[in-house]
Amino acid sequence: MLYLAFIIYLLNQKKKNSFCPFCDEKILNYQKYFEDGNVIGLCSYKPLLRGHSLIIPKRHVERLEDLTDSEMQNVFNLIKRTNIAVQKVLNNKSYILIQKNGKEVGQSVFHVHFHYIPRKENGSNFGFLTRFLTYPFKRKLNPNEMQDIKELLSQNI
Ligand SMILES: [Zn+2]
Repeated sequence: MLYLAFIIYLLNQKKKNSFCPFCDEKILNYQKYFEDGNVIGLCSYKPLLRGHSLIIPKRHVERLEDLTDSEMQNVFNLIKRTNIAVQKVLNNKSYILIQKNGKEVGQSVFHVHFHYIPRKENGSNFGFLTRFLTYPFKRKLNPNEMQDIKELLSQNI
């Protein structure tokens, strides 16, 4: 009996560890502002700054080097289109891209994703850096806020 409980525990652990938010239909539908071919654009549920987006391949692969040439091209095309849309609606001039490969550099979701983070020119560098450091404590968008930013991006991309 104890043995069976242990097996069930292990199976659940495996299930928990293999959960991928970027393969979860519910999460994708909640955050998606764009989908085409083999790529998806998502609004961050906990944005560092307004317009913070995530660009992902549809296929579950862990690292950048696992992407096919076609996925790589479409991911970068979507980054470019996202930037044009965000600049149009939020009027930012600058942005930063972040993409991590491996837990040693802080990758926490093991499905390739690019963070697109826009920045307006009037903020201070210290303020911008502070946002990165305090990211774990950022507030999640509520469903109305998510709907607003999703619509704004999907109508302008
Ligand atoms: Zn995935």
